[in-house]
Amino acid sequence: MMPRQAPIGILGGTFDPVHFGHLRPAVELLQHLGLAEVRLVPGRVPPHRPPPRVGPGQRLAVLREAVAELPGLRVDDRELHRDGPSFTVDTLCSLRQELGDRPLCFALGTDAFLGLPRWHRWETLIDYAHLVVMERPGHPTRVSGAFAQWLEARRTRDPYDLRARPAGQVYFLPVTQLDISATGVRRLLARGESARCLMPERAWRELAGRGWYGYPQV
Ligand code: ATP
Repeated sequence: MMPRQAPIGILGGTFDPVHFGHLRPAVELLQHLGLAEVRLVPGRVPPHRPPPRVGPGQRLAVLREAVAELPGLRVDDRELHRDGPSFTVDTLCSLRQELGDRPLCFALGTDAFLGLPRWHRWETLIDYAHLVVMERPGHPTRVSGAFAQWLEARRTRDPYDLRARPAGQVYFLPVTQLDISATGVRRLLARGESARCLMPERAWRELAGRGWYGYPQV
């Protein structure tokens, strides 16, 4: 059966803080796959990494400013209202309950994809959404063994498949390579250096103007 509605894209992350390496791939995802929208979903307690440098309210405020002038991108703060670790599978399950059989595309960079087998209930993610892997500088996609077999069984090279069914496929989307990471941004800020032009100006003003991440007030 052909779902009538355009798919919805989801980009989860810590966004500590958001930068153009998140936003440009999100815009390309939106355009190249003809999505209705891309929702950026900040996590409250990331299960697979050290705690974020700043709290959820601050990360959310910067993220909201970042997407304020980007049509088709919006923030979904559902993980911030949930207790305990922010498991992606719980997020996709709740989205699926809301969206019926509308296709969902969960996007992640190659670095995150390579760590997928360590995620909570990772094999069930694909029951709720397609996975769209965005190549990230320095993280070529080389998989082997059981994970490679799992991938080959679900991989499609036809983006139409992502519209034709609600979930279940893995698609690799080439995106503009931007060697920007939140780690690099935090490192600059900790040294008192500007991160201007690594994120939208509105987001930068919010972050710098409030003196977050130890950056001096401007
Ligand atoms: P950190 O440096 O703190 O680990 P990060 O820059 O990787 O953070 P996250 O919020 O952890 O940012 O990433 C959220 C999602 O965005 C992940 O799927 C990640 O792979 C992807 N992503 C982040 N930066 C890029 C980039 N420059 N290009 C493509 N994808 C990216």
